[in-house]
Amino acid sequence: MIFKYNCPRCNKGQNFEGLCLKCKEEIRLEEARKLTPKQIQERQQYLIEHLEDLENLKDEAANYFWDCLALHGIVSEELQREAVKAEVFYPWEIYYHAPEDVRDALIKCLKTTENSMEASHLLECLAMQGDDVTLETFIELKRNPPKWREKLYVDPDIYAENGGWTFDESGKRLAVNYDKCYCFEKKDTGDKAVVIGRTREDRCPHCGGLLVDLISIDGTDKRMDFLNVHGKITATCCPGCICFAEGYSRFELDGSSEACFPYKGMSDNEECYVSDDDCKILENNGLELSEKESHLFAEANDWNAVSIGGFAHWIQDCQISKCPDCGKPMRYLAQLSWETIMAGMCEGTVYVEMCPDCKVISMHHQQT
Ligand SMILES: [Zn+2]
Ligand SMILES: [Zn+2]
Ligand SMILES: [Zn+2]
Repeated sequence: MIFKYNCPRCNKGQNFEGLCLKCKEEIRLEEARKLTPKQIQERQQYLIEHLEDLENLKDEAANYFWDCLALHGIVSEELQREAVKAEVFYPWEIYYHAPEDVRDALIKCLKTTENSMEASHLLECLAMQGDDVTLETFIELKRNPPKWREKLYVDPDIYAENGGWTFDESGKRLAVNYDKCYCFEKKDTGDKAVVIGRTREDRCPHCGGLLVDLISIDGTDKRMDFLNVHGKITATCCPGCICFAEGYSRFELDGSSEACFPYKGMSDNEECYVSDDDCKILENNGLELSEKESHLFAEANDWNAVSIGGFAHWIQDCQISKCPDCGKPMRYLAQLSWETIMAGMCEGTVYVEMCPDCKVISMHHQQT
């Protein structure tokens, strides 16, 4: 295809003059990273005055909200109070760790609503709030389901997972994510603390393609201390077949790992979608772990997200798998967008979860 113009920043061919959309967005984010505390406060004020725009994720309001939360870790209590007063229950992240009075207002709405849709949004908002009173409320609602439960697909403990937590039958709180987040950068320093997309020698029994260590994390690197794993965590899969079925792998702390086959519902003569050459492209992604920690929601609103810990950008619904060994909910560990790790050759994102006790990894793919 012949293009008339090139983006002056990245040189990509296109049919219009000026910066491409991706470069425009990158420049916007660079600016947003530099926001001063005063400017952040002004943006929170703008959101209070434009709650309806925020609820409908209109451009400016959505950008203001996500820039403050993702890049600076901020959503003000004032915004939370005004939002609950105006009964704005979306985006749910507004209510992340909201104070007690806001929590109580949300619980009051949840206990009085008869509308299942509204109840569903309120459960998501409270999942983000996530304190012990919310936990008690969710336990109570699971044990004595109100009328609106009939029209919802899942119980409150599954809603809670969106906020990074859940509870077991005895009501004990369990974490299903990690409270630190690290992102990646394209750099060339030889930093091997986390390796993405390393090609292996063994092959997939379904399609014959090469297997890859999708992500391998050195838990002894200082930055990865929060994972509390004193060795290596490796997630292994067939990069082609993982897009069609959830896959598991088992790892040892010495860095070895093995993919678990068969993948559910896959036969042993599937088409191979990722060639050996494609695996090389994946392996040469150039991504290295950032030196600095990011905010928890840094990659929670990014279609091209690659990150460890914090909150994921779920393309469909939040999906926390159960450990096939011990049955407990696994912990969301990482997300890898194919767009970013494979030079745009595939769509969608793979979510990696872990049971640290059983050293089991689950991987599942989502796309629009
Ligand atoms: Zn560009
Ligand atoms: Zn395969
Ligand atoms: Zn387990």
